[in-house]
Amino acid sequence: TKSLAAWIDRVTPSATAQLEQQVEAMLAEGETLLLLGLGEPDFSAPSHVKQAAIGAIEHNFSKYTATGGIMPLKRAIAQKLRESTRVVYEPDEVMATVGGKHALFNAVNVLCCEGDQVIIPMPYWVSFPEQVKFAGGEPIMVQTDAATGYKLTAEQLESLVTARTKAVILNSPNNPSGAVYSAAELSRLADVCKRHDLWVISDEVYAEFQFTPEGHCSIAAVEGMKERTIVIHSLSKGYGMTGWRLGMAAGPSRIIGAMTVLQSHTTSNPSTMVQQAAVAALTGPQDSIHAVQADYRNRREAVVEGVRQLPGISCEQPDGAFYVWADIGAWIGKQLGGRRIAGADEFCAAVLEDCRIVLMPGSAFGSSRHVRISFSASPAAIEEGLTRLKDWLTRHV
Ligand code: PLP
Repeated sequence: TKSLAAWIDRVTPSATAQLEQQVEAMLAEGETLLLLGLGEPDFSAPSHVKQAAIGAIEHNFSKYTATGGIMPLKRAIAQKLRESTRVVYEPDEVMATVGGKHALFNAVNVLCCEGDQVIIPMPYWVSFPEQVKFAGGEPIMVQTDAATGYKLTAEQLESLVTARTKAVILNSPNNPSGAVYSAAELSRLADVCKRHDLWVISDEVYAEFQFTPEGHCSIAAVEGMKERTIVIHSLSKGYGMTGWRLGMAAGPSRIIGAMTVLQSHTTSNPSTMVQQAAVAALTGPQDSIHAVQADYRNRREAVVEGVRQLPGISCEQPDGAFYVWADIGAWIGKQLGGRRIAGADEFCAAVLEDCRIVLMPGSAFGSSRHVRISFSASPAAIEEGLTRLKDWLTRHV
């Protein structure tokens, strides 16, 4: 038979698939595991949001809609992004998508042609380079480290630009590092983007989890950047609605129009009843959601304090999102429970087997000397997990 499409050889399957399979098998056997690697919040949609979805179903609000979303949702998205980015968006400059991942996919695929380079700072969210490769582009990975708070600097960006550079993908607050770019840092990066005529895909899906005094800043708000930035957002993280699959994008109407054409030939509109729920989420009362978001600030303190007491492990305090990016470098080459630790994958496998704790190996995000510890787990699970880890690691020192 003839071969499959060429992208299949370019795109890497999920780096954490093996660990996930092992976890699934253990859970299926009835084992109790502490899940500290999760990428989703532990709260759910407020009840008025659920009621809106139920009402939509009962009223047969269940037919196709406009591809980019019903007008009340587009207006609600424009308003939401006006507040979070401090950029004025009109309804024709926004669209609803099937999750933030889908918004990113649309954006990458309307920007990238064969051979285009897209600059991606490391550590990165797992799908960024794969989506670029899928589109035929070339991801240009750039290492960041603790010295710059895991942030891309303007000098680094400048040094990577070539005639083929099309775009840069920024993610603030960052998954997995928790790094948050300040307005001043974004303004310096924006200078480089304007000088070299680069697009920016700005993934802001963690904007609600923000622990700096300055608050969330979007590069789209820098003078001259709205016209070259696609902002990506989602109800997944901030509203605890990962499974509802409702994302959004904002940018120049030319780009949003092209993304809508692509979406019209692939998924069509996001689920109609979910759109009604999304209007309720964005325009209804925000107090309960603000309260749970604020609770994550307290969890952050507890996790950082706990992680810093683990022998051989260090971390920066995350300024946003709900992850601690822990450096396990001191354990590399050592023995843990009879296993030689070559990197984060072996470290996480040992932690899973000996402590019954699931952590996310940094290899999924481009670093084998880090693990991602999530504070979206309950405070009790976090406390229990960190105590278990400390006792176990202490026995191996
Ligand atoms: N961007 C980042 C940085 C993420 O961590 C995630 C989810 O893990 C997404 C985008 C996509 O989220 P969703 O498609 O659920 O909106």
